[in-house]
Amino acid sequence: MLHLENVKTGYDAGLALFGVTLEVGEAEVVALLGRNGMGKTTTIRSIIGLTPPRFGKIIFNGVEIQNLPSYKIARLGIGLVPEGRQIFPTLSVRENLLAVAANHCNHSDPYTMERVFSIFPRLEERQKQSGGSLSGGEQQMLAIARALMINPSLLLLDEATEGLAPLVCQEIWSGLDILKKRGLSILVIDKDIGALTAISDRTYIMEKGEVVWSGESTGENLSRELTLRYLGV
Ligand code: ATP
Repeated sequence: MLHLENVKTGYDAGLALFGVTLEVGEAEVVALLGRNGMGKTTTIRSIIGLTPPRFGKIIFNGVEIQNLPSYKIARLGIGLVPEGRQIFPTLSVRENLLAVAANHCNHSDPYTMERVFSIFPRLEERQKQSGGSLSGGEQQMLAIARALMINPSLLLLDEATEGLAPLVCQEIWSGLDILKKRGLSILVIDKDIGALTAISDRTYIMEKGEVVWSGESTGENLSRELTLRYLGV
C-alpha cells in the first residue's frame, strides 16, 4: 500500500532523513521506533507532504505522492493524527468531526460520526463541548476520530499516547485495536514500546535518519535489538 524508497528529507540546509526505505501493507499495523530526534516525525511529515522529500519516492496505492500537496495526499486516503493533536479548540467535538468529513475514496462502508462514537464513546458524551475544553486523552481520541472522518485507508499516528494517563492510554490502544481488526493500515509512533509491539505486525527502528532494523514485532529478534539499541547493552 505505502512504499518509501530512499527518502531524503531536510530542514533548511541539513538533512534529517538519509535514505529511508519502508513499507506498510494492506491491513498492516507498522510501528516506527527510535530515540528522540532520530527522524520518526520527519518520516511521517514526508509521507503526508508537510515536509516534502528532497530525494526518493513515496508511492501510495500505485500513485507517486512525494510531490503532491498535503491536501491531495489526504484525499488519496491518508489520515494524519499529528503530534500535539492540533484539534480545533473553539469548535465543538461534533463540529471538529463534521468540518473534515469526506469519503473521497468512495469506501463502501464509510466512517460516520456514529461509528467513531462507537469506538470512542467518551466523544459522544462530550459532543457539544468545545475541543479546547477536553482532557488531553479526549483530545487525542478526537484527533483520531477526526482523521477517521476523512475515511482513510492508511492512518499515520505521531505519538499515539504521549503524555496521557495510563487508563486513557488503554482506551486509545483499544480503539486502535478495533481499527486494526477492521482492516485499517496504520503507521504508528509511540514511546510505549510494549503497547506498540503488542499492536503492530512489524517494526522499523530508526537511528540518525536511517532505518537500522526492521522485522516482525513478535519474538526474540526485536527484543534483542531493542535491548541493544535503547539500553546499549
Ligand atoms: P522525537 O521523538 O523527539 O519527536 P523524532 O524521531 O520524531 O524525535 P524528528 O522530529 O523527525 O525526530 O527529528 C529528526 C531531526 O530533524 C532532528 O535532528 C531534529 O532536530 C531535526 N528537526 C526536526 N524538526 C525540525 C525543524 N522544524 N527544523 C529543523 N530541524 C528539525
